[in-house]
Amino acid sequence: MRDFIVLVYLIPMLLLIACDRPTSIDTEVTSPNPFAAVETIADSIRVGDMVIHNGFKFQVLAGRAEGGFDSLMIRDKLYAPNRQAFDNCLSMIFGEENAGKFQLPGMYAWNKTLHTDHGKLMAQKLSLLDTVNLNELFTSHLTALQTLTERRGHGRWMVYFGPPDFQIFGGCDNNSMILDMFGDSWNAADINDLFAHELEHLIFGPIAEKDVHGATGLGITLDEGLAVYYTYKYLNQSREEALYQQNTAILMQREKEIFEKLQPYLFKTSEEGCPIFRHCGRTNECPPLIEGLPEKLEGELCYFLGFRIIEQYVERHGPDAWKDLYTTPFKVFYEQSGYAEYVQRL
Ligand SMILES: [Zn+2]
Repeated sequence: MRDFIVLVYLIPMLLLIACDRPTSIDTEVTSPNPFAAVETIADSIRVGDMVIHNGFKFQVLAGRAEGGFDSLMIRDKLYAPNRQAFDNCLSMIFGEENAGKFQLPGMYAWNKTLHTDHGKLMAQKLSLLDTVNLNELFTSHLTALQTLTERRGHGRWMVYFGPPDFQIFGGCDNNSMILDMFGDSWNAADINDLFAHELEHLIFGPIAEKDVHGATGLGITLDEGLAVYYTYKYLNQSREEALYQQNTAILMQREKEIFEKLQPYLFKTSEEGCPIFRHCGRTNECPPLIEGLPEKLEGELCYFLGFRIIEQYVERHGPDAWKDLYTTPFKVFYEQSGYAEYVQRL
């Protein structure tokens, strides 16, 4: 999802921040009172140095407090524990004119009307709690991440309801990662995949920052490829499940063409290598090089390529060798994957 620290991709006007995984299915409201369920959710879940803070819990409770809206709860339980995300990320990325929405007292205004203006959607999003035990989900994800990758990692996520039209799934650094539950990705079908993928980025992000090729096409390709590959291992997915279901076949059939067209940009940064960044969903500043793909796939080709490079590496070096990417310079990993030679033989 990112090549270094900043992983926000602003689409002008809509201010929708990139979300990695495809598909979205709206969950039906099934619980008679989905708001009550938040009381059983932990304030935050911590495993080692990784924390997920359930800020939404306090937005729900503040709006339903006896005696009216509880602004102190917003201040003390939402803003204060997540200051880094509000001060150093959210108030910076949406433009100066919107910065106040993510600061006090600006946060009070939209939180105060959240229930009356968006109660139905909130209920729908909270109904996920009927089918998913969030405490267990987050704990098992954080634990698996550290066990499988054999890396401790550090980072902090806030899960919250953002002001409408300011959706975000991402953040600005490991300590200011944000998931907006109003986003399409917050649904029972996608949440497991999504968290595995995003949490892996927390481990790899600091490594990519240090690699000399971290900010190049290769860097973002391996970053996304590894997040997909980790999810594939953790959730015991098939290649199709890890990638794009039946559309995976389209990519496999066009693999040679995809790689050969993007290869010249692998070692270039976004200034010189626009096409690969274009096909990784990072920019729209140049036209696509690979035409005729399903629209959803067009901006995700480096996820596919990165995954395939890692698959080839594992085929050569053994089933656990994907973890070598945490300790091997990117260029060396790429060369030792033998992927370019493999594609030549196709
Ligand atoms: Zn990603």
